[in-house]
This record gives sequence, structure tokens and C-alpha cells, in this order.
Amino acid sequence: MDVKIIKCLKDNYSYLLIDNSTKKACVVDPGEAEPIVNYIEKNEINLKYILNTHHHIDHIGGNLILKEKYNSKIIGFEGDKKRIPKIDILVKNDEIWKNDTFEARIFHLPGHTSGHIAFHFYRERKIFTGDTLFSLGCGRIFEGTYAQMFNSLNKIKNLPLDTEIYCGHEYTLQNSKFCLKFDTKNPNLQKKITQIENKLKNGLPTLPTSLREEIQCNIFLKAKDLASFSKLRDLKDNF
Ligand code: ZN
Ligand code: FE
Repeated sequence: MDVKIIKCLKDNYSYLLIDNSTKKACVVDPGEAEPIVNYIEKNEINLKYILNTHHHIDHIGGNLILKEKYNSKIIGFEGDKKRIPKIDILVKNDEIWKNDTFEARIFHLPGHTSGHIAFHFYRERKIFTGDTLFSLGCGRIFEGTYAQMFNSLNKIKNLPLDTEIYCGHEYTLQNSKFCLKFDTKNPNLQKKITQIENKLKNGLPTLPTSLREEIQCNIFLKAKDLASFSKLRDLKDNF
């Protein structure tokens, strides 16, 4: 399974997961259709599934055009069936979603929204975390509680350290400034910031990141308890 990173809107990332032997594909969070259609047409891909981490428009904005054009099925959390238009397949926490050669475990990760999920392709050690975990940051808490978000991040933290993390936005550089402010002497963070700056300078995405690096550098994953996590989340909202 190949992952092609596709920039959408201002700073969103959508991901095409392609089985090269069959040319069948899934798309994760198509914020808009056009860049996805361009790639599909050029590479003769068969878009079978649209995977949504949550219902926000910058993650589902391309759903309907893609569904109509390619007859793809839309997959999302059961609790969001009224918020994701024309959803076809409802998934729940801990379920294994399996179709063609694609196989992922669903993690329900409330906090950013009440119905937020991640898709963990465990055979490939890749997780698509939407707006829950960002590189060096985490999503804003819109619908959930601090405790839910803290707990959701802890679930991701328990995955194998070499898991590759694919997030919903290119927020990494801005996030790094916040981490550095509260974690001034972390050599791993300093090294990661240099890598981030080099990637951006060359027009490359800073993603995927790895769980190992996030545990070393992401201040929200380093928070020891709920109180310190909540404090950081508040500070970040006004950073
Ligand atoms: Zn969102
Ligand atoms: Fe978003």
C-alpha cells in the first residue's frame, strides 16, 4: 500500500492509499475534490473508498463529487451518520474495517469532535489521525472534554513506536514554536525543528511523523497528567 500525500485547501492534507497491484485506492479526508481527481485521472486509479476522520467540512468537502464520479463508498463513525452526508458504511470503536486488500482498526478518539476517529492500518504501521494528533501538537477541543482528548492521545501513544502518523493539517512549524517555548533544552526537538525547516524550504510536507519522535518532542504527548495537559491546551489556544 502506497500513500500519496495530496495538499488540499489552505493547509489540509488528504491521503490516497493505493494498492499498486490492483490500482484500487482509498482516500482519507478529501477536503476538496479537484486535487484528488487530478491525481486519479493521471494515474488511472480506482477510488473505491472515502475514509473520513470527522465531519468538519475541510475533511469531507470533496466527498460528494468523488462519490458521484467514481461510485466510491463513504466510511465514517456511526455516531456521525447524520453529519456526514451520503455516508455508506458506519464503523465503531475498535472495529476492524476490511475491504479488498485494505485493513484498518478504527479508534474512536473524541475531543476535537465527539465522533472523531482514526484509521490504524496496523499491518503497514500507519495511522491517520485527522485533527486529533498533529505533528508537535493536537487538535482544538471543540465538542469533547479535556479528559476525552487526553485519553484519545493516550490511546495513540500505546501503538508501536515506529508507527507512521499522518495528520490532517500542515501545522508543524507553528506547533514547534509552542513546544520549544516550554521545552527549551530538548535536543530531539531541536533536531526535529531543523528537519522541519529543511522540508518546508524544499516545498515538502513535514508528514508523516513517527510516534517515537512525537513522544520525544510533542509537548502534549509529554504531559504527565490531565491537569498539565489541560493547562497546555488552554495556553495553546491563545498562542
Ligand atoms: Zn476538524
Ligand atoms: Fe481540520
